[in-house]
Amino acid sequence: MIHLSNALTVKDITQLLALRGKDAKFLHEHAREVKKNSVGNVVYFRGLVEYSNICSKNCYYCGIRAGNQAAVRYKMSDDEVLEAIDFAWKKKYASVVLQAGEISGQEFTDKIEHLLKEIHRRTNGEVAVTLSLGEQTREIYEKWRAAGASRYLLRIETSNPEIYNKIHPTNTHHSFEERLRCLHLLRELDYQVGSGVMIGLPFQTVEDVARDLLFLKEFDVDMVGMGPYLEHEATPLFAHKDQLLSKQERFDMAINAVAILRILMPDINIAATTALQSIDPTGREKAIEVGANVIMPNLTPTKYRENYLLYENKPCIDEDKEQCAGCLETRIRFTGNEIGYGSWGDAQHYQKRKL
Ligand code: SAH
Ligand code: SF4
Repeated sequence: MIHLSNALTVKDITQLLALRGKDAKFLHEHAREVKKNSVGNVVYFRGLVEYSNICSKNCYYCGIRAGNQAAVRYKMSDDEVLEAIDFAWKKKYASVVLQAGEISGQEFTDKIEHLLKEIHRRTNGEVAVTLSLGEQTREIYEKWRAAGASRYLLRIETSNPEIYNKIHPTNTHHSFEERLRCLHLLRELDYQVGSGVMIGLPFQTVEDVARDLLFLKEFDVDMVGMGPYLEHEATPLFAHKDQLLSKQERFDMAINAVAILRILMPDINIAATTALQSIDPTGREKAIEVGANVIMPNLTPTKYRENYLLYENKPCIDEDKEQCAGCLETRIRFTGNEIGYGSWGDAQHYQKRKL
């Protein structure tokens, strides 16, 4: 029997990831206890604004990659963004996330800077802003930090450089080293740093996922978003669909991964990702029950949602932000967790790091 502690080895984690059914129960129950005793049974809302699906990159897994000419491109107007933020603020969400395809250049940088300042002004600094806008230069990260962004999400996607190179084009615009460099930069610039991986990628073994979890621990991240890899027909990785684990297998492994990470890193923020719900209608609740403490209600205007399809069967694309808020509130109450309204919900891990 594996002794559950925050000193698990690759071998332990590989075995734990493979547990299913009744055998997985002790892992899930232990993780639930760790969560209760560390971050408590509180779930924080992060309102997600999918700002734009315009992207300069060509990641082989993603439905809004530049090469997908079938994607109808959009960018939200300032008014649309600010309306979504006002909604989040009035609803007392702890924070919002501005996410988009990866764009560089002066116009984009200035636009984000302007939006950050405007959000800060309108909400009296009461809404923490997280950015998820990909790899940028030190100057840009600095500028956005100074304009009010306090957190940044940049997934490593996989900590195995060989797999990374297989799921991205081979060029300097898609380099594992650059991604790592950006994560270090964000840390240096005093962002709360979030990262994560996809689970069930082609070429990935269970041991790779075990190493991913240890990578997140070693990097000492403050926040994690990880979920199952989901295929999208209009992407190069779709050609490998027959080599994938079943969706249920990817789901089960992702739930175990959340539980293991909670045990490895008791005081970080872990998201119950939307990708889980695209496999199991109660997927996000299941993640909350085994250790996740963050959920991201979608604030994107309904008319854009069907165009922000990173993967197929993305849930909630016909709903509006009011419906998403109500639905999630009910779902969380079912798990016996409270909602952390009206506070930033900073990762305890970050706060402790700063002491
Ligand atoms: N452009 C930014 C933010 C948008 S993509 C970036 O890449 O960081 C946000 C996340 O969506 C990615 O990090 C990736 O992990 C996830 N994603 C993309 N395609 C996916 C797929 N097919 N299945 C599961 N997750 C996917
Ligand atoms: Fe662009 Fe992000 Fe999708 Fe890569 S994962 S293609 S950077 S939106």
